[in-house]
Amino acid sequence: MLTGLLIYRIILPVPSADLPLTGEANTVVFQADGYGGPIRMQMVLTNTGSIQQLQVLTHQETAAFVTQLDTFLAQFRQKTGIDDQEPGREIDVMTGATVTSRAITQAVAATLHQQPARKDPLPLLPLLLSATLGLSALAALLLGNRILRGLVLLSALFLFGLAHRSIFSILQIAGIQTGHAPALFAAPWWWISFVLALVPALILGRLYCSSLCPFAAIQELLAKIQRIPRKQFTPAAETDRRARKIKYLVLLALLTLTLVLGHLSVADIEPYITFFTGRGTWPVWSLLILVLAAGTFFFRFWCRYLCPAGAFIGLVARFARWKIQSTPACTGCHVCLAACPVNALEAEGSFVQAETAECILCGHCLKICPQKCLHLTATQARPASGTQKQRRAVPSPVAPEQTWLLPVFLLLSVLLLTLGVMYNIYQSTSTAATAESATPDKSEHLKKELLDMGLTLHPAKYWKP
Ligand code: SF4
Ligand code: SF4
Ligand code: SF4
Repeated sequence: MLTGLLIYRIILPVPSADLPLTGEANTVVFQADGYGGPIRMQMVLTNTGSIQQLQVLTHQETAAFVTQLDTFLAQFRQKTGIDDQEPGREIDVMTGATVTSRAITQAVAATLHQQPARKDPLPLLPLLLSATLGLSALAALLLGNRILRGLVLLSALFLFGLAHRSIFSILQIAGIQTGHAPALFAAPWWWISFVLALVPALILGRLYCSSLCPFAAIQELLAKIQRIPRKQFTPAAETDRRARKIKYLVLLALLTLTLVLGHLSVADIEPYITFFTGRGTWPVWSLLILVLAAGTFFFRFWCRYLCPAGAFIGLVARFARWKIQSTPACTGCHVCLAACPVNALEAEGSFVQAETAECILCGHCLKICPQKCLHLTATQARPASGTQKQRRAVPSPVAPEQTWLLPVFLLLSVLLLTLGVMYNIYQSTSTAATAESATPDKSEHLKKELLDMGLTLHPAKYWKP
């Protein structure tokens, strides 16, 4: 009786209009704010105050998260208290789901300790490191220093990719769209990649895609490897122009689906998330292999044609005031057009400018112009009137043209993307159905288990950490 009263007291009742009371004695239902949105959880406590059972009722996380869930939650069994300051020390975080692991750990600890979740401290180190890399990327671009750019790319690969798995993703855009962004201090790396991708894009274009995206580093390394035995291919200009639009269609389709279905995991198809976390469904693993293979033939294959996150950055970059364009000293030789690795320059007579949505700010054109008349500038120069727009007027000295291989790669990629999305839709709907149908059974089983243990029964209560 005394134990029952004690347990009853530690579970503060928070009236909830939208959540019906479910479950039985010593059961508490609470919420954690995961990467993909709210995670509704149920915890059952024994008469000694230790965790008897912990389960997720509903969530918005990715399909890959589900595969690690049971192992992760099993760590909480029999615990009477959790160290929520260093979640990784006592409870192993899920690979690639650090934000969600941390949120669950903190919510469980807060519920056990009957205290509001502790506020995270200001993430000074992440902020300092990221600001340094961001400024170095800008310096590399403005100085036209390729070595510095390479160093920044490698640092971003290690810091954002391998160490923190913090890569700008369509999941973040979909999260903002559906109102499921994590708190700033709870997920600093989430916000750092978000700000690094979009703030420079608004001012001068795709600086993030230039030297801050870890997958950009992987693709450029692939290009370097390929140049040892033979050069990469240049896609036919018309195929290239049409194929670029695919990424905008992918972006539109994913944002629409997540909005309509209300489940972020539907958009979990980016191969670089799988590359850096080691988690993914079979269509995304297959897509990753295909994208890496295609990247050895076509420079930045994923970025140019398929990346929905890059497409979003590109859309923002259309508003950038600063852009690469030529001064009146331009002779119209079009050497720069041929040198651009992503065919992002267009010429109108002797006026050249970069298309900000496609330009990855690699700086090659700035270095190669014989007149040194291409600059990143806020001045809006005027093209000569009555001249036709032109792209890649002369064959690229970088790579020979290739006509049939790109459509094959694109076709297979779109097929795998579609399969990946369909798989995610199936997973998210079946997970929701399983959670709903399993909860009453589990509650019944737990009720019997608790009765066998001689516990006093109380209705389930809700705790808001
Ligand atoms: S397009 Fe996508 S993968 Fe490529 S650099 Fe930009 S964000 Fe990274
Ligand atoms: S390389 Fe320089 S001079 Fe030649 S077209 Fe480009 S901007 Fe003009
Ligand atoms: S070479 Fe092309 S991608 Fe690189 S900065 Fe110039 S226009 Fe942009």
